[in-house]
Amino acid sequence: MTSTMGTALVTGASSGIGALYAERLAKRGYDLIVVARNRGRLETLARRLGDEGGRRVEVLVADLADKADVHRVEERLRSDATITLLVNNAGVGATAPLLEADVEQMEEMVTLNVNTLMRLTYAAVPGLVSRGGGTIINIASIVAIAPELLNGVYGGSKAFVLAFSQSLQHELKDKHVRVQAVLPGATATDFWDIAGLPLEHLPSQIIMPAGDMVDAALAGLDLGEAVTIPALPDAEDLARYEAARQHLMPNLSHSAAAARYLAS
Ligand code: NAP
Repeated sequence: MTSTMGTALVTGASSGIGALYAERLAKRGYDLIVVARNRGRLETLARRLGDEGGRRVEVLVADLADKADVHRVEERLRSDATITLLVNNAGVGATAPLLEADVEQMEEMVTLNVNTLMRLTYAAVPGLVSRGGGTIINIASIVAIAPELLNGVYGGSKAFVLAFSQSLQHELKDKHVRVQAVLPGATATDFWDIAGLPLEHLPSQIIMPAGDMVDAALAGLDLGEAVTIPALPDAEDLARYEAARQHLMPNLSHSAAAARYLAS
């Protein structure tokens, strides 16, 4: 039977945060399309979720750094009218500083973390708008606002995700499309090994179990948050940060330079 919640398409669902989103969303009653490169892991997940909850789970194998594969996923997002939720989660990180990093790897990271996320969002939004609404969850990172912590290209790619999400929240708010940016801190997944800094090298008090992170992010979605930072103890801190940003806005563009830049 088709789900009344509709279908959620989750990228990077073969492991870590994406696999947990798929699991939690199936429990919430969504049918699923799970996307990643590793067919074996996706099929195991799809079987488990199908057995446990009876939801329809479809595997869509795609390398989201490959243009032709991205086009196939875009096509699905454009043509499947059951889709109500897109989770843009697939992403890779890096921890090396510029002097030790490989620029080809940096470009690949930008392709996946920025270009693909942007293209899939562009493919999904028109259908969501024409069907009266929907939800986009974009997985950014705390490095979006703290780029000094890891590799700068990774931080920049996640700052893009946050800025793009904020712009869409503004653009789409009257069209019933919700956009949530999630900024996880260090989360216990394979991400760290792949990024070149094994989790054991981080202080354990900053690492959140991935299930707790996803549950908090979904709680933030339920609360109607535009930006969710699962670890942040006091929501007022984020509200003050946002208020300071809004305070700057009317003064960022004027016909004359500020007095402090004018020769006396
Ligand atoms: P993960 O366990 O390594 O998962 C990454 C997922 O992305 C995997 O399912 C992987 O699947 C998929 N992926 C990677 N390259 C891909 C490609 N070219 N095409 C398709 N899928 C691809 O790491 P994770 O922590 O869950 O990461 C998920 C997201 O959370 C990322 O965007 C990451 O930047 C963000 N994040 C993570 C942390 C953290 O501390 N873990 C913190 C903040 C933000 P395949 O290998 O099967 O393709």
